Amino acid sequence: MTKHTIKGGHSEKAMQEKAGARFKDVFLNMPHEVSLVLITDSVRNEPYNRAAREVIHAIRKMTPKILLREYDLDHEMAKTWNVTVSPTLLFNPDHYAIRWLGAPVGEEARTFAEALIMMGYGETGISEDSRKVLDKITEPRQVTVFVSPTCPYCPQQAVNAFKAAIEKPGIISLEIVDVQANPATADRYGAHSVPQVFADDILIAQGAQPEELFMASLEQLEQQTVFIPESDAAEVETDLVIVGGGPAGLTAGIYAVRSGLRAVIIEKGLLGGQVATTPVVENYPGLTHVGGKALVDIMISHALEYTSIFPGEDVMDIIPGTPTEVITSRRRFTTQAVLLATGAVYRHLGIEGESRLAGHGISYCSTCDGPLFTGKKVIVAGGGNSAVTEALHLHHIGVDVTLVHRRDTLRAQEQLIQNLHDNNIPILFNTEIRKIRGEKVVAAVELYNNKTDETTTMNVNGVFIAIGYEPSVELAKKLGVELTTDGYINHDGRHRTSVPGIYSAGDVEGGYKQIVIAAAKGSEAALAIYEDLMNPYWKI
Ligand code: NAP
Repeated sequence: MTKHTIKGGHSEKAMQEKAGARFKDVFLNMPHEVSLVLITDSVRNEPYNRAAREVIHAIRKMTPKILLREYDLDHEMAKTWNVTVSPTLLFNPDHYAIRWLGAPVGEEARTFAEALIMMGYGETGISEDSRKVLDKITEPRQVTVFVSPTCPYCPQQAVNAFKAAIEKPGIISLEIVDVQANPATADRYGAHSVPQVFADDILIAQGAQPEELFMASLEQLEQQTVFIPESDAAEVETDLVIVGGGPAGLTAGIYAVRSGLRAVIIEKGLLGGQVATTPVVENYPGLTHVGGKALVDIMISHALEYTSIFPGEDVMDIIPGTPTEVITSRRRFTTQAVLLATGAVYRHLGIEGESRLAGHGISYCSTCDGPLFTGKKVIVAGGGNSAVTEALHLHHIGVDVTLVHRRDTLRAQEQLIQNLHDNNIPILFNTEIRKIRGEKVVAAVELYNNKTDETTTMNVNGVFIAIGYEPSVELAKKLGVELTTDGYINHDGRHRTSVPGIYSAGDVEGGYKQIVIAAAKGSEAALAIYEDLMNPYWKI
C-alpha cells in the first residue's frame, strides 16, 4: 500500500518548517538593505493599511535588512513623492520609481517577497534574451500593472514588471495597482480583469506572460504572442536559407529540418506575410474560422521548434556559389541552397491621390486600420475574396462600408458573396475609382460608371484597397532568375529556378493564392531541396 502524506499531517508540517527556515535565510543573507516607505491615511482604506503593515512586519521579523518608514498621507514627504492614495508603498524611493497601491497580501505576498529579494540581492535573474529587449528601451516608460490578492496568475506578471523596473531604474517606473483597494483607478483604465498591464497608458498585456514576451510587449508597446530571440552572430553557416516568413517559408523551414537539413528563415517585414493582416481565415484544414494573426502565431511557434528565424532582416545580396552567400542588413549566411518564398505585395490602384493620402485615410489592411474608421464611411475597392472579406470585417466592427467593383459580377467565393448580401452591404458595380480627394486626409472619391459613362463624387472618410497582389521578385530579378510572362518566378515541377541552387515556393510562383497551397508548396520545395542536396542535379 502506498503511503500518502495527509494534508496538515506531521510530515507536511515538517516540510513547511524547513521551507520557512530556508525563506528566512534568504532574507537574512541579503547583502543590501531595502528601504520601504508606507504612506497611509487613518480614514481611508484602513483594513488595507493594517494588512500592509502586518505583511511588512512579518518580513521584518526575519531580517534587519528591510527598513520601514511610515508617513501620513497629509505629510510633506507624501507630497514630495506625489502620493495621493492610501495605502501606497514605495520601494527604495531614492533609487527606484516603484510603488504599490494597496496591500501586498494574498497571492500578491509572493510578488512582494520576490521583489524584496531581487532588490536585497541586487539582481533580478532575467534572461539574456530579456536583457537584450530591455536594452532597446531608451525613453522613459510608465508601467501600470493591475493585480488582485485573489489572482493566482498575477504574481508572474507583476514580478516581470518588477524585473523591468529594477533593471532600468532611470527609465522604467512602475505602479502595481491592487484593483480591490483602488476600484476607481481600475475603472478609469477599464481594467476589469487581472492581470492587465499598461505602459504609458497603452494596454500592452492581458493575462500572465513568460518573461521574454512581457519584455517584448513592453518594448513594442503592444501585446506580443511569440518571442523570437535575437542573434548576435555575424556569420551563420547553414544548408538552406529561406527568404520570406509567410506560410510557404515557415512550412519549408519545418519540413527542411525534419528532413535532416539545417535551415534558417529570414523575413524583412511581417512574419506570416499577408495572412498576418487577414481579419479572418476560413477553412484552413482543421479550422473553420481562425484569425489571421492567430494562425500565423501558431505557425511561427511551430517553425521555431525546428528552425531559427531572423526577423527584420533585409536580404541585400545573394551570391550563388559553393557555398552560396546571403548578405543581409545584419550578417552573412553561407548555405548550400536558397529558397525564395518572398510572396507578393499589395497591388496599388495607381490613381491620383493614392500615394499622397496613403496612411491618411487610404489603407491596404482592414485588420490594422479598420478600428480607426468605426462609425465612419469608407469604400472598399475590389471584387475578389480579399475585398469581400475586408468589407465584411469592416461592417462587423461598425464601419459604414460600400464595396466598389469595376465589373458587373464579383469573383469572390459564393459563400462570401452571400454574407455580403445577408449583411446588406451596398455594392457599386461597373464603378472605377478615378481620384481620391482630400487635403490632409481622405474626404471624397471620384467614381466613374463605365456603363453609363457618368462621373460622381462620394464623400468618404476612408478608402480600403483590396485589388490583389503583385509578386515580390526583386531578389529573383537581381539573381537573373527567369520569370513567367505574368512576372512570377518560373520553376520546374520541383521548385528549381533557372539558377542552380536557387528555389522558389508560394505566392511568388503564381497559381492559386490560398494559405494551404502556399504551405504545401513550401513543404514540397523543402523535400525537393533535401533530395537535391543529397544528390545535386547541377553536378550530374
Ligand atoms: P484577386 O482574386 O486577384 O482579385 C482582385 C480584384 O481586384 C478583382 O476583382 C479585380 O478585378 C480587382 N482589380 C484588380 N486590379 C484592379 C484595378 N487596377 N482597379 C480596380 N480593380 C482591380 O485578389 P484578392 O481578392 O486579393 O485575392 C488574392 C488571392 O487570395 C486570391 O487567389 C484569393 O482567392 C485568395 N484569398 C482567398 C480568401 C479565401 O479563401 N477566403 C480570402 C482572401 C484572399 P477583376 O475582377 O475585374 O479582375
